[in-house]
Amino acid sequence: MAVQQPPWTLPSQKSPEPTLKIYNSLTRTKTEFVPINGRHVKWYNCGPTVYDASHMGHARNYVTQDILRRIMTDYFRYDVHFVMNITDIDDKIIIRARHNHLIANLRSETTSLTPTLIEQVREAWVSYVQSKVSKGLPESERPSAGSEQAQWPKLVERFRDKEWKQQGLQRDEKFEMHFSAAAITFNALLKAEEYFKSGQTGVENAHTLIDSSQDVLALALDKQLGGTVNDHTIFRSLAAYWEAEFFKDMRRLRVRDPDTLTRVTEYVPEIVSFVEGIVKNGFGYVVDGSVYFDTRAFDKADGHTYAKLEPWSKGNRELLEEGEGALSAASGGKRSPADFALWKASKPGEPSWPSPWGEGRPGWHIECSVMASAILGDNMDIHSGGIDLAFPHHDNEMAQSEAYHNCSAWVNYFIHTGHLHIEGLKMSKSLKNFITIDEILQKYTARQLRLAFLTQLWNAKVDFSESLMTGEVRGIEIAFNSLTSSSFPTSSLHASQAAFRAALCDSFNTPEAINVLRDLVSKTNVYIRAPDGNLEIGLIQRVARWVGDMLRIFGLGEGETQEIGWGQERSANEGNVNREEILMPYLRTLSSFRDGVRKLAIAKGENALKDILALSDKLRDVDLVPLGVALDDQEGTPSHLLSDFPARYACVPSDSLLTGRLNCVCDARTPSLQWPQNLPRTPSTLDVARALRTFSVVPAVDGKALVKLVPPEELIKAREEKRAQAEAKAARKAAAAEAERQKRLAALEKGRVPPQELFRPPNVPEGTYGSWDENGIPLTDGEGKELSKSASKKLQKEWTLQKKRHEDFLEWQKQQEKDQG
Ligand SMILES: [Zn+2]
Repeated sequence: MAVQQPPWTLPSQKSPEPTLKIYNSLTRTKTEFVPINGRHVKWYNCGPTVYDASHMGHARNYVTQDILRRIMTDYFRYDVHFVMNITDIDDKIIIRARHNHLIANLRSETTSLTPTLIEQVREAWVSYVQSKVSKGLPESERPSAGSEQAQWPKLVERFRDKEWKQQGLQRDEKFEMHFSAAAITFNALLKAEEYFKSGQTGVENAHTLIDSSQDVLALALDKQLGGTVNDHTIFRSLAAYWEAEFFKDMRRLRVRDPDTLTRVTEYVPEIVSFVEGIVKNGFGYVVDGSVYFDTRAFDKADGHTYAKLEPWSKGNRELLEEGEGALSAASGGKRSPADFALWKASKPGEPSWPSPWGEGRPGWHIECSVMASAILGDNMDIHSGGIDLAFPHHDNEMAQSEAYHNCSAWVNYFIHTGHLHIEGLKMSKSLKNFITIDEILQKYTARQLRLAFLTQLWNAKVDFSESLMTGEVRGIEIAFNSLTSSSFPTSSLHASQAAFRAALCDSFNTPEAINVLRDLVSKTNVYIRAPDGNLEIGLIQRVARWVGDMLRIFGLGEGETQEIGWGQERSANEGNVNREEILMPYLRTLSSFRDGVRKLAIAKGENALKDILALSDKLRDVDLVPLGVALDDQEGTPSHLLSDFPARYACVPSDSLLTGRLNCVCDARTPSLQWPQNLPRTPSTLDVARALRTFSVVPAVDGKALVKLVPPEELIKAREEKRAQAEAKAARKAAAAEAERQKRLAALEKGRVPPQELFRPPNVPEGTYGSWDENGIPLTDGEGKELSKSASKKLQKEWTLQKKRHEDFLEWQKQQEKDQG
């Protein structure tokens, strides 16, 4: 019998892989995610209306969408086709562009400050006070026609009363904005009148008046001349400018570009035929050149339901009107107040395109139906946007598309990102808590912002606050910063991986996923510090790499993909750093030092050790100085303090104590360096270690030089000063030596005369003495008289001294001859 393999049985799965579930606005529950075609996911996201700077609300929405998209593509590995639109035809764009254009025109036509201009601004101001400011004033305090100027100072006085202002804000949330605009214009008017009276009618004063009253003037100008602005490029260029700004902000926030970007202006013919299709299917009707969607007909039709997302908002007039835009005609011929515009007849001053119903432009909601259909076909897997768009925009989009495609499930998963509040309050210009993306990025990094959103559920309300950023976000950053290649373990890696997947499958639960990663990092660090020291380095590396990869999925990886952890955050400039350019000078120095040491070691000369030391000094004093590296061979520094104070003080909760101690230590070592500003107030061990590196303080373990990075010019200056001091000292020494030599020479010179000759001419005047003994010591004076006893004794003493001097002299002379010969 032939030898057979034993039977094999299909393994039975003990723990099945969790399936991805997504919170779906269409059911308000977490529903299993099933793409229509295999792993291909069709996704449409509502993009911005481009007429102003992007703000924190945009950041919340687009960064969150980006996180979900990255999880779908980079973690679940779906083949996602992400489409986003730019709304570049919109009432807000039209109004803003017209205002800008009319103000610019007035400015360029104005050549001097005239009574006509002053009058024009005054009239604009009066009508602004009546139409805008009055909305926030109590009935009894609204100025009657003609009394606006007289009443104004009193209103300004009232405005200072906080409670009064608060009541105004309750009547009109833009009250403060309107009041401030009117106040600025009023003061500018007073000033302009003064200028005119004193004859200062120059163009600058006229422009100052226009600039200070822009908001007020634009409304009046638009009322009067808005209809004359019909050039498409005026609207288009405003939208193009803000679109470019939007994408600049998005890239700074590390939001990926969409796979396909669509603009309304590029889809107008498709929109016209789409609207025709809806009318043909019986769900649209024409009134005075505008086309409306028939919500009642749609709701009644088999297989269709209107307002699937928010059926309870159906009759909400405020939301409906907002959706229709500020320029839409009164709802005259509408069959139902809930009906909305598919196509709007354009009035003068509004951009228009040809259509079977006359010149007009698309309604707001239709654009997304058309562009999504044009790119993705008659259905999609995911549609996303901010929660504010759910009704009426998304409900209307769905109704239009299902009316056109004759289907009942145009979108399978509708996902809405949650609201954003700032310190507990809705963000709004009138509350003065309006933050642009540019402003927020001056305060926090893109990574910190992203972490702030990651730690909240994507569909929950985020309260953006100082405490969130300095507390939780900072804590997570510190936890993940301790992720280094030399730090990891675990048997819990697989458990963490499973928990991580489960969290993301649970409708992208990023707060939970981040917790899983954070726990794994702490467990790993505990493992590393365990006393037995049997570390499985391979496992630690796997953990490190996996955590890093998962952080990158969230868009948190700033460094190179090979880097462990999330990598170093780099500024835009640093991103292009040329490593070769930076490192080569140091490497060349290191290499040539090595060459020198090798040569000396091989030669084994008798002075080799001395020469190596000299080479080391040259490295310190000559080669490293222009590179800005200071080496200091100091000994006996508090190295123990530096090496163990992170461990000793990191756990001290009082930041003042810790900071104080660190300051002391660091001040002692590097008096010229300041405590780094980016060090958190409650530093961890790692921060402390970092700070030390920031200080360039390398703990001076015995015999190791202290290394500091110092600007080269400082080092060169210090070196020159040292050299000058040494030279001055040497010069002083040389001068002293020379003086000593001269003194000695003078002394020797005195011994040139032999003692026998000392008292004979020419060494004494002729006739000083009469006779001498055999040693040349005088016996009598010039007159032959015997010298006194005391005089003889004195001469004898002198003679003995000279004898000694002369012997020294002869000795020196002999030495000189020997040296020269
Ligand atoms: Zn949309």
